Amino acid sequence: PHTLGILGGGQLAQMLALAALPLGVQVRVLEPDPEAPARLCAEHLQAPYTDAAGLAALAGCDAVTLEFENVPVEALVALNGRVPVRPDGALLARSKHRAVEKEALRAAGAATAPFVRLDTAADLQGALARVGGQGLLKTSELGYDGKGQARVGTETELRAAWSELGHVPCVLEGLVPFERELSLAVARNAQGQMAFGPLVENVHRQGILRTSIFPAQAPEGSEARARELAAAVAGHWKLEGLLTLEFFQLPGGELLVNEVAPRVHNSGHLTQDGGGLSQFEAQVRAVLGLPLSDWRPLHPCAMVNVVGVADERGQALNPDWAAIDALEGTRVHLYHKAWRAGRKLGHVNLVAPDEATLRSRLSRLQGLIP
Ligand code: ATP
Ligand code: MG
Ligand code: MG
Repeated sequence: PHTLGILGGGQLAQMLALAALPLGVQVRVLEPDPEAPARLCAEHLQAPYTDAAGLAALAGCDAVTLEFENVPVEALVALNGRVPVRPDGALLARSKHRAVEKEALRAAGAATAPFVRLDTAADLQGALARVGGQGLLKTSELGYDGKGQARVGTETELRAAWSELGHVPCVLEGLVPFERELSLAVARNAQGQMAFGPLVENVHRQGILRTSIFPAQAPEGSEARARELAAAVAGHWKLEGLLTLEFFQLPGGELLVNEVAPRVHNSGHLTQDGGGLSQFEAQVRAVLGLPLSDWRPLHPCAMVNVVGVADERGQALNPDWAAIDALEGTRVHLYHKAWRAGRKLGHVNLVAPDEATLRSRLSRLQGLIP
């Protein structure tokens, strides 16, 4: 029997553990939060990510991976040479810092939104004009679900937003007039063999992913281009393991890379119920060096996130669970997390025999989730 170590114990670790078990693989997570979702289906080492005893327990696994890029690079570096770490600290260091990541994407031949690095106050001068006059200010580190971001349209707004974010190093990105958002995952082993996940279409609201749909309604050739970019990044960054690229598709069809997640991704959750291999099993296989080929749903499918939404008085607005359960083609996935406004609490996957049926079921499902 194999043991897989994971840095981070959130819902992605929970779902990785659930996918690992039938393969004869048990999961051990290092995660300081006592209430973390993976506690219920994995061995939970409750300690800081850099805790020596916790890391020693991970070093006893067959391989170590991560489910969360906001773990310290030092944790991966401390494991280096003791156990295969996939991805490794060098790849994590690239993908956890927005400016470093964008520079590394360009070095791999991928286009990104125009951006300016804002490390000190002096960098703000003229920055907005350089990205096209309308921008998104993002903290270089620790942001997720649109946290640590602000829309800015004037120099005054930029200065105010930078103060609001605490004068920390940031990236100012030009606002991209995208036609749609897409994502695609790639797995790569030490021999350089690659396998790809499906091209998925994503809809965000207030910086949080709400809905993902397969197949994407993208122009002919988009999937091949997305794979080409994913392969270039994975090769150039010497990936071992799995990563996911988020794309902006421009009206002319061109793909810009928005960001990279060094792991399974929220947009890939629909692979759990699409009938093919799931992204979670793909990451487990990639990290343990088990056989892996391309994974893709066998049926049209979609995913809707359940995010904590409050009414005017701050009370939780709950989804209509009974109606969701009664809707044909749904599968509910809950993360066992306490309710908080803006927090991802679970998701509902939806399958259908054809795309027209998927879209009509999807609009009914969306009506049941606040
Ligand atoms: P996560 O890691 O959860 O995907 P994040 O906090 O890292 O989120 P981003 O992916 O950078 O955030 O941005 C969230 C969403 O905001 C994007 O998916 C997109 O909808 C919108 N967005 C981000 N950057 C831009 C941009 N430069 N132009 C237009 N829209 C953008
Ligand atoms: Mg992100
Ligand atoms: Mg994103």
